[in-house]
Amino acid sequence: MRAEIITIGDELLLGQVIDTNSAWIGQILFKNNIQVAYKTTISDQKSAIDSQLNTSLERSDLIVITGGLGPTKDDITKITLAQYFNMGWRIDQKVVQNLEKIFEKKSRKMLEINVMQAEMPDGCETLYNEWGTAPGMWFEHHGKIIISLPGVPYEMKNIFEFKALPKIREKFKTEPLFYKTMVTFNIPESLLAIKIKDVEESLPAHISLAYLPNLNVVRLRLTGKMTGQLNIKEEINHFANQIKDLIGDAIVAEEDLTMSEIISGVLKSKHLSLSVAESCTGGLLSHQLTMLPGASQFFVGSVISYSNSVKHHQLGVESTLFETVGAVSEQVVEQMVNGVREKLKTDYAIALSGVAGPGGGSEEKPVGTVVIGICSDKETIVKRFHFIGDRHNVILRSSNMAFDMLRRLILGLEIE
Ligand code: ATP
Repeated sequence: MRAEIITIGDELLLGQVIDTNSAWIGQILFKNNIQVAYKTTISDQKSAIDSQLNTSLERSDLIVITGGLGPTKDDITKITLAQYFNMGWRIDQKVVQNLEKIFEKKSRKMLEINVMQAEMPDGCETLYNEWGTAPGMWFEHHGKIIISLPGVPYEMKNIFEFKALPKIREKFKTEPLFYKTMVTFNIPESLLAIKIKDVEESLPAHISLAYLPNLNVVRLRLTGKMTGQLNIKEEINHFANQIKDLIGDAIVAEEDLTMSEIISGVLKSKHLSLSVAESCTGGLLSHQLTMLPGASQFFVGSVISYSNSVKHHQLGVESTLFETVGAVSEQVVEQMVNGVREKLKTDYAIALSGVAGPGGGSEEKPVGTVVIGICSDKETIVKRFHFIGDRHNVILRSSNMAFDMLRRLILGLEIE
């Protein structure tokens, strides 16, 4: 069985909006053992939708379409699909009720163009949208399934996961894949491949290994297909354990977690508190931590000490150091990290100062130089790094590295 995704919207073609919908749908289908063979982005034109439907219906069994279901004139997906499948129209009273509820909540009057959103092609099944005004649609055509969903990502996800996916599973009788992700940190992909070569070569045909590298993190994902009586879960765990033995503490998680989720888990489980002094990262670490539910259990606060004046006045860094060794130095970061821990009275602290670029680099401190400090009441560790990539990359790599250094300090692991 073959699936494909069509995203509709001129804004996607022009690069004004990044197509995250197809990436998300692809991931969910993959987890459900459904192979996505094509992804296509097309414009908001009837001719483009018609011609793509001709092509897609030739080659795929399941077609998921997003976009163009809103109430405005450029949203032509619904009318185009109704015409393509020669369908008439019906009013879906449940959609009317949902629209009335939404407008009442917003204390706004429903417009004629909104009422039209309850008009559905009479041969499709409505996939109700609890979070928005545009419902999704489920069409069956010569044994093939065509699903049309709104473009707004959170509405699309909710309809797809709770309305469309259960029906897809039932229709195509798919068995979910079993997969296990292990997150490694600060070990290059090529070195990883050499270390686990023997395990990789011994994998049976129904288990595959993928390397997913990003910002000093490499995710290793073992995926298995159900075959006969084999206990795939046990088999995959067996290979995962072999990999663990070979890589050791470079494995930072045995499920798909971010570095901020990992350090949050460590701090929470040990009832420890954290404060942060951020210069080049400008609040990113604090933001990443507070995006996670339950951050208040360990995160006390941060000082965004971007200027030297804040480093001096808020964290007690000696002003003479800015002249003698500069803000990006081990001496300044040591005072920053101890300063923030004392000020905010936490068990642990992190501090960072660096040259994120593109300007500001020198021979001694090129762009990408970042000094990271971590401390507890017993010890302070400060290290200098040279990260590659643009400003965005340098900042993200710095935050990942800081979280890993702290993880290692708390768990008593060696910090290289
Ligand atoms: P609406 O009810 O908002 O009109 P719609 O189904 O007509 O919904 P579009 O108008 O195509 O959807 O897109 C609505 C918004 O959803 C766009 O402004 C865009 O921000 C976002 N969007 C659309 N398609 C995608 C996509 N493939 N990936 C990410 N975001 C998308």
